[in-house]
Amino acid sequence: CGKKFCEWIKTNLLLVLTVLGVFLGISIGFLARFGEYGEDAIMLVSFPGDILMRMLKMLILPLIISSMISGLAQLDPMSSGRMGSRALCYYFTTTMLAAMLGIILVIAIHPGDPSIKKEIETDSEDKNVYTLDAFLDLIRNMFPENLLQACFQQVETTYRKAKAKPSFVRPDVNVTNMTVVENITQSFQERELAYKDGTNVLGLIIFCIAFGVICGQLGEEGEIMVNFFVILNDIIMRIVVLVMWYSPFGIMSLIIGKIMDIKDLAQTAQQLGLYMLTVITGLVIHAGLTLPLLFFVITKKNPLTFMKGMLQAWITALGTASSAATLPITFRCLEENNHIDKRVTRFVLPVGATVNMDGTALYEAVAAIFIAQMNGIELAAGQVIAVSLTATAASIGAASVPSAGLVTMLLVLSAVGLPTKDITMIVAVDWLLDRLRTSINVLGDAFGAGIVDHLSKAELEKIDAEHARIEMEM
Ligand code: ASP
Repeated sequence: CGKKFCEWIKTNLLLVLTVLGVFLGISIGFLARFGEYGEDAIMLVSFPGDILMRMLKMLILPLIISSMISGLAQLDPMSSGRMGSRALCYYFTTTMLAAMLGIILVIAIHPGDPSIKKEIETDSEDKNVYTLDAFLDLIRNMFPENLLQACFQQVETTYRKAKAKPSFVRPDVNVTNMTVVENITQSFQERELAYKDGTNVLGLIIFCIAFGVICGQLGEEGEIMVNFFVILNDIIMRIVVLVMWYSPFGIMSLIIGKIMDIKDLAQTAQQLGLYMLTVITGLVIHAGLTLPLLFFVITKKNPLTFMKGMLQAWITALGTASSAATLPITFRCLEENNHIDKRVTRFVLPVGATVNMDGTALYEAVAAIFIAQMNGIELAAGQVIAVSLTATAASIGAASVPSAGLVTMLLVLSAVGLPTKDITMIVAVDWLLDRLRTSINVLGDAFGAGIVDHLSKAELEKIDAEHARIEMEM
């Protein structure tokens, strides 16, 4: 038995170390709260975690570009089209289900109480958000003017000149940073545009889809290009393995730093506890019931085994609060542990990490109705439907970076006429809810890839047989 246990530890060493990192992170973090530490100490403790975040972020761009292009070039346009529609269908259904679950729970639990609002009310101005601008921004960003700029900057945000207020912000900012955006607006015809740091992943994805599909159609002529991206992808994935061995230490550091940094833990828990509980219950139901059930019904495979294979990615999402930063690990878990076809992961996963955010949709729906309850407003049925639709849209629009969901929530609030400044009330607990919803976002992407892989099996086998036949003939 001892030998078996040692064998198990050996084969799952990385996972064991990561789980250990989480436990140590939580315990050391809470122990450290008993002492008095300055900002310097917190910065030093979080430093290894910072390095992990930087390493993961460094990999995102080459990973997305090489995986999308190599994946699509190895498929024929018909198969990639079918695969893409299956993925989008899954994304839309599960995101809507998540938003609806959130709405049912927040109405049933009713965590919002106007008397609490007075205690936590903070000064902030109301942001005026234009729904039309927001949707147009989303589409506008799909087509970046300058591809190189899209890699490191270029997220456009529309401001109406009259009011000069931001409408839709995708980048890595929190609500208070919006003022920074306001200062760098540029005049442009009827509207003003703001450019903010952060990769325009959606824009890059659209370009990579076109590039990959056409590369694949070129046949022999395009072979050099395809091989280049296949090899680039392999190299990046090998770097991912190196980063993964560092990740337990980095995740531990991120957790300790975060726990040491939280202010007024008890008071926040008292004021926003029920709200947090509502979001967490929703996330647990979605991850523990809705998604596994859907996966089982479609694939007839054991969802628990699948989820166990994703554990490493799950924990990384908890540590980094970013599905983009977790993407390299999600790739690895799906391909190595769950044996999903690389052509599926390469195509479906970058898209999923960017647009499919079940956790965020659920969270946004709960938060919006919670804010209504805090203001003593009972929403009409039509408004509740509007919340579920805009929460879905806002989750698609949210970038896969920490706290992005908090920012796109402005859209949900303004769509139903709720005070957008009230977002500041829930900022205090976003450090935790962000991590939790991100891990559900990642799980949703993973199940999506598993389902698309299952549904595309026959097509992929046909492509393999065709390749084998051509090779035989040569
Ligand atoms: N942090 C989330 C993610 O990366 C997005 C959000 O803020 O909801 O998936």
